[in-house]
Amino acid sequence: MIRLKTPQQISAIREASQLLITVLEELERMVEPGISTLDLDQYAYKRITALGARPAFLGYMDFPASLCTSVDSAVIHGIPNKQRLRSGQVLSVDCGVEYRGYFSDSAFSVPVGSVSTEVEQLLRVTRESLLLGIEAARAGNRINDISRAVFHHTHSCGYGVVRPYCGHGVGLEIHEDPQVPNYVGRGPNPRLKPGMVLAIEPMINLGGDDVRVLDDDWTVVTADGSVSAHFEHTVAIMAERTEILTAREV
Ligand code: MG
Ligand code: MG
Repeated sequence: MIRLKTPQQISAIREASQLLITVLEELERMVEPGISTLDLDQYAYKRITALGARPAFLGYMDFPASLCTSVDSAVIHGIPNKQRLRSGQVLSVDCGVEYRGYFSDSAFSVPVGSVSTEVEQLLRVTRESLLLGIEAARAGNRINDISRAVFHHTHSCGYGVVRPYCGHGVGLEIHEDPQVPNYVGRGPNPRLKPGMVLAIEPMINLGGDDVRVLDDDWTVVTADGSVSAHFEHTVAIMAERTEILTAREV
């Protein structure tokens, strides 16, 4: 069931999103060779709780951390650890917060130090595909319009589009209906209505689209070991416009 949000609820989700933006901007600035994903996770936990919010992923289905940190061939759901990041790697950071009962969800991928032109392009195209998906997320369109925009932009570059995981409704819970796939499948294709709040999140691989889950039962990696990128925004669909609630400068 898709829960449409009232303007008051959207305001509350906007507040949660503002808080998430602050934390993600700080985290992105901290990413450099030598820092560990555990360092980032501990910072995020302290910062989110100091701001009066709760890390929404921590304890969710027993996930052990505040952030998902996915390095190189890890697509999503990586568990923070003590290993130091090295120049040339790609880090994807995904974070959800709950603030006063409302949820927001956002993710970014960032190069650690310098990366190859090939990887820079993957990051740029994945970010662009998120923005194209958001452009298609207009009241009156359908979920598949978002999916098609993301898929077309990334697939046409020869990238693998991850299928088993997708975007979702968000706001009153961290994961709500509807699902927002990054490809056009045969699943439900509801019309987009004012009051829908969606997390749109392309997960795009430099190589093939196939993924598998590591023995930790969380980390999703590319089957061919190629680098993967992940960008995510929480957006609110309103009658006249769609607002990117987690938009930020960095
Ligand atoms: Mg997320
Ligand atoms: Mg999400």
